Amino acid sequence: MTWNISFSLVTGVLLCILLGYYVAYPRLPVVSNRLFILLALSEMCTLASDIIATLMDMNHQSFPVWVLFLVNLIYFLFFTLRSFVLYVYTVTLASQHTRLQRGYYYVGFAFGVLFALLSISSLFTGFIFTIDKEGYHSGPGYAVINAQLFVFLILGLWMIVRFWKSLPGTLLSGILLVYAILISGGIFRTLLPDYLLMDTFFMMSIVILYITIHNADLYRESRTMSFDYQAFELVVRDHHNYGVWYQLIGIMTNNYEEARQIYGGVQIDVVLNRIGRYLREQFRGATVFYERSGCFLIMIEERQTAEKAVSMILPEVIRRFREPWDGGSGSRVFLNAVFSQMNSDLEIPSVDLEIEVVRRLLGKGGNGELDHDFVVDRTLVDEVIREFEIKKALSYALQKNDLQIFMQPIIDARTGKVVGAEVLSRLIDPKLGLIPPVEFIPLAERSGSIIEIGEQVLAKTCRFLVERRSELQGIDFININLSPIQCMDPDLADTFDLVPKTYGVDTKMLHLEITEESMVDPDVLKSRMEVLGKLGYVFSLDDYGSGYANQFRIKTFPFSGIKLDMKIVWAHFREPDSILPNAVSSFLDCGLTVTAEGVETGEMVQQLREMGCTYLQGFYYSKPLPLDEFIEYLKKRAS
Ligand code: C2E
Ligand code: CA
Ligand code: CA
Repeated sequence: MTWNISFSLVTGVLLCILLGYYVAYPRLPVVSNRLFILLALSEMCTLASDIIATLMDMNHQSFPVWVLFLVNLIYFLFFTLRSFVLYVYTVTLASQHTRLQRGYYYVGFAFGVLFALLSISSLFTGFIFTIDKEGYHSGPGYAVINAQLFVFLILGLWMIVRFWKSLPGTLLSGILLVYAILISGGIFRTLLPDYLLMDTFFMMSIVILYITIHNADLYRESRTMSFDYQAFELVVRDHHNYGVWYQLIGIMTNNYEEARQIYGGVQIDVVLNRIGRYLREQFRGATVFYERSGCFLIMIEERQTAEKAVSMILPEVIRRFREPWDGGSGSRVFLNAVFSQMNSDLEIPSVDLEIEVVRRLLGKGGNGELDHDFVVDRTLVDEVIREFEIKKALSYALQKNDLQIFMQPIIDARTGKVVGAEVLSRLIDPKLGLIPPVEFIPLAERSGSIIEIGEQVLAKTCRFLVERRSELQGIDFININLSPIQCMDPDLADTFDLVPKTYGVDTKMLHLEITEESMVDPDVLKSRMEVLGKLGYVFSLDDYGSGYANQFRIKTFPFSGIKLDMKIVWAHFREPDSILPNAVSSFLDCGLTVTAEGVETGEMVQQLREMGCTYLQGFYYSKPLPLDEFIEYLKKRAS
């Protein structure tokens, strides 16, 4: 019998080039990358043993029978091994976004052992193949060799289908193409056994996997030539799944935005590129990631190397960052950096939490929330866990339309009568109890669900106004808080038009409290206020004195009233001077109403009244109350 090995030879050369190239360049330290190398190696072994066995079979007279048997057996075993590795590779790749499930590996292993035993048993049974004086002969069970390829391909396809939804598009198309190629390869092998074509099909698959999944450039951030944040998440997920220990060093420039404005984007990009290179040189063998806004992450998997990096290299890097960077053409760029450390000894219960902890760490450093170097400890982890639980509770409550609204009375300073109220939302969770808005509003602003909160608060307020109309005599207005994110929302006016109409509520009763943070984009805010103003809404500036708002700027917006933040009210009572009275009187002069928040004592009531404040709000009168209690409160005050 003769076989044609010319395809195999070319295939072998190509594989060697690809593998050499792949191994020589940095790649992500994830299990699937290691399995990719293993897959290529098992293909090369299969190919080599195939060529050797074929050549020896063609010259069988020159070799003893047992040598021929052994060589052919080795080929069949590699053939099984390759299919098995392909299957393990597929499981790993397909399930990488979910929790590790070992059962899938065991199934493949059982099949692998079974097929290997069948090949070995040929020694006694001649089932797969036999060797005699005339050389190699296929046995009655030879078809099993092709069948096993299909068994593993079907198992692999099943895995792809099983995890279909969690897989990113490029990965899915890559691996599906590979399976299509291998199935055609299997068919060719069955039809044209003389050509040893299977190796060529495997080589094509490996090339496709490289192009679509394993090419490290897919995970690189172009300015810094470091790996990107998506790659980082992939690695953390992988390490968490396989219990790989790691040390993380975070380097976060906290004046990134300012630096970009001062030095310009081009120079900063040059510097980022230099820093990327510098960090890769310093932390050799580690993986360097870049996350937007000037944050680098360095990951080290080996404990000793990590200890050395933290105790010896990091101090040097910190020193280096105190000096300027060369921004090209001789310019000097100064970046302030915060350094942080974290390792997986923290034993964070889930991958999502682990990624969130790092995100928070970067956020804290990058936002300039922290001005000192730090090591991540349980406190940050617990904070993140609490946030996670609150997020869950919030989305559950929103889904069930279960967010509560409370009302805090607002008093006319001259008459002492309750004339209005501020709506304040409350999240009550069966497990976590009452969660104050200071905890969930910022989270909702970050996740976008603040829009939904706003809609539910508005709808509930309108319903309350309609249902309890007769009991709300004397209430002239209800204040609703709008967060800056809501003010940016282009659909804001639609919602605020539709909802009161549905309930038949006059929008003149609804006052919107807007904080000065919303003024960061004055044009958008002005256009929103104009539209809402036409619908009948009235506006108050909330938390005056807690930020940068000044009276000149306020004048350019159509506010009817100012709410003094309780901090500046309290500050005045701690150290009285003329600043607050002057501010109040100048607002009044401009025709604005002034509401003092945080009124807690009779003395405060007295003096704020003398100052000329229009309205008073605070615990002296009442805390925010559940709706029924608010009605009770109104009745009590009226009698
Ligand atoms: P804010 O708009 O400044 O609301 C006033 C906060 O001060 C309320 O806190 C209120 O309970 C508290 N407060 C009122 N009088 C006193 C007092 O005399 N002493 C003290 N110590 N505190 C007083 P709360 O309800 O925890 O709300 C916190 C913040 O959450 C609010 O600050 C507001 O910015 C935001 N928020 C609450 N509900 C909503 C909402 O439905 N939508 C939006 N966008 N933000 C909301
Ligand atoms: Ca408010
Ligand atoms: Ca306020």
